[in-house]
Amino acid sequence: MNITHAYAAHDAKSALVPFDYTPRALRDHDVQIEVLFCGVCHSDLHQARNEWNNSIFPVVPGHEIVGRVTAVGSHVSRHQVGDLVGVGCMVDSCRTCPSCDEGLEQYCESGFTGTYNGQDRQTGAITYGGYSTAMVVDQDFVLRVPANLDPAGVAPLLCAGITTYSPLRQWGAGPGKKVGIVGLGGLGHMGVKLARAMGAHVVLFTTSASKVEDAKRLGAHEVVISRNPEEMAQHVNSFDFILNTVAAQHDLNPFLNLLRRDGTLTLVGAPEHDHPSPQVFNLIMKRRRLAGSLIGGIAETQEMLDFCGQHGITSDIELIPMQQINEAYERMLKSDVKYRFVVDINSLRA
Ligand code: NAP
Ligand code: ZN
Ligand code: ZN
Repeated sequence: MNITHAYAAHDAKSALVPFDYTPRALRDHDVQIEVLFCGVCHSDLHQARNEWNNSIFPVVPGHEIVGRVTAVGSHVSRHQVGDLVGVGCMVDSCRTCPSCDEGLEQYCESGFTGTYNGQDRQTGAITYGGYSTAMVVDQDFVLRVPANLDPAGVAPLLCAGITTYSPLRQWGAGPGKKVGIVGLGGLGHMGVKLARAMGAHVVLFTTSASKVEDAKRLGAHEVVISRNPEEMAQHVNSFDFILNTVAAQHDLNPFLNLLRRDGTLTLVGAPEHDHPSPQVFNLIMKRRRLAGSLIGGIAETQEMLDFCGQHGITSDIELIPMQQINEAYERMLKSDVKYRFVVDINSLRA
């Protein structure tokens, strides 16, 4: 395959810079993809800066990928040249463990293969993500993109969309349920749109007063400034489910306090430093639950894309050239993104 142009972080402290590499030769079950758009997830920043202490440099981030199929291996049946496709956070898993058998590849008992910062199961080579002009991915981990949606706005669905869709489904978001979403960033704004489309009563919690009107436009029935104790007090003991997408360490007690009996607070935000343990009595007294959730399986990701196709849901994006990626990271750290940066990968072809 031809040289691929990409952007990579070479260590935890320096900016992303241009980086060329050659993807693996097409295997029988592989699809070759010309990448068109790639969303910028906060997890990209965490890993480019080694905040989870597991980065293998150079890191080519990007796991919210939309592109066009340009070649297929001899045993590929699911996709054809010319198809518009997506790739999310995983490119492989063991396919035999109980979790893989249930279509929960994200919980693969031997660890899924990350789209980047992972290791190819056959060769051990480090995987490189969607901040690249081209990729080669096993057909089983390639998704179909609904034709009626804007492809740039679809890209963030591949991580931010599925990471919020899966727990909303798991914990029964729907009519008659009061659902909270904490943080209006990439994940949070998708959580608001999806929970609303599922029919729940949606309350958005934000630390940014400037986002109140946007949150309502995106679908929230109510918006609460989480740093205002009086506003928080009005919702005590009332939520069936709260999904917390915050990318930084904070106190969980004020949110647990808002759950009704048997309610669940699920964490998807994965900050560099853990949250302090919440008060045990805050859980005991109302049989409340504190849980976590990791992206979603491949079948559920396709279900989510089809759901978004039916409901006309895409991400609200700011399209940037790759040359602006380092500024985008700094703005993301300041919660200054409305509501997902997406890289126009054509900027790497110029
Ligand atoms: P993002 O766009 O940066 O959004 C995070 C939001 O959290 C911000 O917009 C802000 O919302 C809020 N926030 C940030 N700092 C805060 C602070 N100090 N205190 C309170 N609120 C704060 O990030 P993202 O891409 O949505 O990702 C969010 C987190 O989820 C990241 O840690 C990421 O790694 C993780 N993640 C996990 C999974 C998974 O499978 N579990 C998948 C993808 C991403 P407001 O301005 O509204 O307060
Ligand atoms: Zn992500
Ligand atoms: Zn497995």
